[in-house]
Amino acid sequence: MTNTANTSAIACKIHSVAALTSGISKVVLSPEQAVDYRAGHYLQLVLSAADKRPFSIASIASSNLLELHIGTPAGDTWSSAALTHIEQQFQAGLPVMAEIGLGQAQLRENSKRPVILLAGGTGFSYVYAIAQALRAANTSQPVYLYWGVRSEDALYYQQQLQQWASSSKQFRFIPVVQQPSADWQGRTGLVHEAVLADFVSLEAYDIYIAGPFAMAGIARDAFTEQGAHREYMFADAFAYI
Ligand SMILES: Cc1cc2nc3c(=O)[nH]c(=O)nc-3n(C[C@H](O)[C@H](O)[C@H](O)COP(=O)(O)OP(=O)(O)OC[C@H]3O[C@@H](n4cnc5c(N)ncnc54)[C@H](O)[C@@H]3O)c2cc1C
Repeated sequence: MTNTANTSAIACKIHSVAALTSGISKVVLSPEQAVDYRAGHYLQLVLSAADKRPFSIASIASSNLLELHIGTPAGDTWSSAALTHIEQQFQAGLPVMAEIGLGQAQLRENSKRPVILLAGGTGFSYVYAIAQALRAANTSQPVYLYWGVRSEDALYYQQQLQQWASSSKQFRFIPVVQQPSADWQGRTGLVHEAVLADFVSLEAYDIYIAGPFAMAGIARDAFTEQGAHREYMFADAFAYI
C-alpha cells in the first residue's frame, strides 16, 4: 500500500512532448533521482503547493523514463493547464516537480487470477503499464484488455496491442468504439458493456479500471451484479466517487 501523504516531489527533466492524437499528448520525463513505483501507480504533477494533478504512469519501472498520456479535450481546463505547465517548463529548459508512485490500484503481482483491464479514453495509460508488467513477468494467466474510446482515431497504441495479441495466446485486445466511422469493423458501444456481454460471470477475475469517473462507478456496480468481487476490482477513481 502506498503512503500518498509522505511522498515528496522529485525534479524531472522533460525528455519530450509529442502529440499522440489531436487531443492527446505523450510526455516523457526523466527523474533526476531514483524513483520507486509499481505498474498501475500514478504521479502528481506539482503546479503549485496547493495544486497537484494526478496522471497515470504508462511506463514500467524497468524504464528510467516516465511516460504520461495527457488528454486535453476541447473545453477541458484541468489537464490542459498541466500540459501548458509542462510545455512552458520545457521551453524554458526547466524541470517539472512530481510526486511519484501514488495510488492503491497497482498490479497485484502475486495474483494468479485471470485479468480484465478496462480503460476508458486516456485511462489506457494505467492499463498499458499493467499489461506491460504482466508481459515482462511472462505470466500465464489470460489477460483481456478492453479499451473504449469515442472515435477510433483515439486508439493511439492499437497497432502495438494487436501485435501483442497475435504473438501471445494469453493476451486479448478488444477495442470498443462509441461513435464509430462507417469503416470500423470492431466492437461498438460503451466499453464496460462489452465486458458484460463477453463474460457470463466475472467472479474469477481481477479487474483493473481507469477512465472517466462516471465510467468507473457504473462499471463497478454492473460488474458486481455480474459476480465480480469488490476486493478484486481496483481503480484509483473509486477514491474520488
Ligand atoms: C488517479 C488518476 C489518474 C489520472 N490519470 C490521467 C492520465 O494519465 N491522463 C489523463 O488525461 N487524465 C488522467 N486523469 C483524469 C481522468 O481520469 C481523465 O480525464 C479521464 O480518464 C479521461 O477520459 P477521456 O476523456 O479520455 O474518456 P472519454 O473519451 O470521455 O470516454 C472514453 C470511453 O469511456 C467510456 N465512458 C465515458 N463516459 C462514460 C459514462 N458516463 N458511462 C459509461 N461509460 C463511459 C465510454 O466507453 C467512452 O467511449 C486521472 C485522474 C485520476 C484521479
